[in-house]
Amino acid sequence: MSLFSPRRYQPPFYPMHPGPWPERIFTAFERSLKGALFGCRMCGNCILQETAYVCPMTCPAGLRNGLCGGASPERCCVDPSRPCTWYKIYERAEKLGMTEKLLEINAPIDGNRAGHETWIDLVQKWREWGDGPQPIELITDREQFKTDAGRFFYRLRQPDWWQGDAEYHPPAYTEPISGLERELRSGAFVTTAEIAPPLGASTKILDRKVAELRGVVSAANFTDNASASARMSSLASSKICLELGMEPVMQLQARDRSRVAIESEAMGAAGLGIRNILCLSGDHQRFGPTPMAKPDQFDMDAVQMLWMLRRMRDEGVYLDGRAIKQRPQWFLGAAASPFGAPPKYEAIRAEKKINAGAQFIQTQPIFDYERFTEWLAALDQRNLLDKVYILAGIVPLKSASAAHFMADSVPGVVLPPQILARMDRVGNDAAAQQEEGVAIALELIEKLKQTQGIHGMHVMAIHWEEIVPRLITESGLPRPRMASLNGRVSQARQPLPAGS
Ligand code: SF4
Repeated sequence: MSLFSPRRYQPPFYPMHPGPWPERIFTAFERSLKGALFGCRMCGNCILQETAYVCPMTCPAGLRNGLCGGASPERCCVDPSRPCTWYKIYERAEKLGMTEKLLEINAPIDGNRAGHETWIDLVQKWREWGDGPQPIELITDREQFKTDAGRFFYRLRQPDWWQGDAEYHPPAYTEPISGLERELRSGAFVTTAEIAPPLGASTKILDRKVAELRGVVSAANFTDNASASARMSSLASSKICLELGMEPVMQLQARDRSRVAIESEAMGAAGLGIRNILCLSGDHQRFGPTPMAKPDQFDMDAVQMLWMLRRMRDEGVYLDGRAIKQRPQWFLGAAASPFGAPPKYEAIRAEKKINAGAQFIQTQPIFDYERFTEWLAALDQRNLLDKVYILAGIVPLKSASAAHFMADSVPGVVLPPQILARMDRVGNDAAAQQEEGVAIALELIEKLKQTQGIHGMHVMAIHWEEIVPRLITESGLPRPRMASLNGRVSQARQPLPAGS
């Protein structure tokens, strides 16, 4: 048990090169003391000052930049026997008046530093940099001491290879990168739709689904092993979609991938002409089938992914500092969970994603319009609505049992009792249940179409993609302005200039 944080979910890291005995003793002392106080896992880059002195590494997913989509005030969604670490952080930050600190984009762990003591290192850096706080200032000039200490510790927390901050970074290009971006910039009300990649190796099912949606929606999302369940990769599905003349949104999640794998996969997508990437932390492996993958599979979170990919695109650098000669072109997106936590917390998380590089947001399914507008208002209060395109999530309910499953088992999805009651009232007739699901979706689309700050819809039909054209037609949603991508696809696949 720790004094100021929830108990840690995983044991502390141990150093790869433990150093000489005196250092080992020092490390063991630091581990015990900070373990008792904060549940410290010896991550090697302490960000307690950004997280209201609650250790974020006690979160089962090790998220260092905010809560996941499934958290609740009562419990962690990964391990319901414990509280959500990030709720504790938000609550403590509010009490201490430190909420704005939560906007800092914190670095992922540096494996070389994990497990090592930090206090000797701190003294060494203080000597090396020479501009740290001077003890004498405690007597002569306390304000100066505070300023110097703030700057010194900030530099420690934001290492040179990361350079995170709490500022908005607009994209460093002018012409739209993808068809989706072009349509959104033009002011069109845009619709995207989700396609689940096939379970098997045959691509026939993709051919059929893409044919159903081509010319109906502006782009198709391909999920990335959603619910920690293996399928054909999002990258392969996106490429096939592109070849079939429709623009994909490749979903890319942090779970199961190191930073190297993320950089490599995103760069591969750029090389294949895939321009839209939706960055996700990913469902915890607990939500997948058994046997479960080993826990602690998150090297990065969605905020860190966005930060890293935006810098690769706009600054031309890999995380390790290598220059990128031919920069990738990505229109970067993020997911948002309007119903996960109170809107004021979710707005902080959304702001971090937008600051990090999210240019569009696709939300979790909306069933409770009034609560959704509260989330939107919270974003507006933070002046975010001019910085991002928001596509509101819609799920047409296929059956009453699907509705109950979503309400009970899908983190971050809230179905009001009246929606569940409507689905139940229909009775056992499957066709009637589907009609009721379509009617509910159409009513929600009608309201969302009129809502200020919404730029389009994102339809997640969950293995019922054939319903999407009907929804678009009956709701009067506009069709995409560019029905075919063929011209642009071949342009995107042009060989790179010689020497690049
Ligand atoms: S942020 Fe890292 S160093 Fe700080 S208490 Fe948590 S695990 Fe320990």
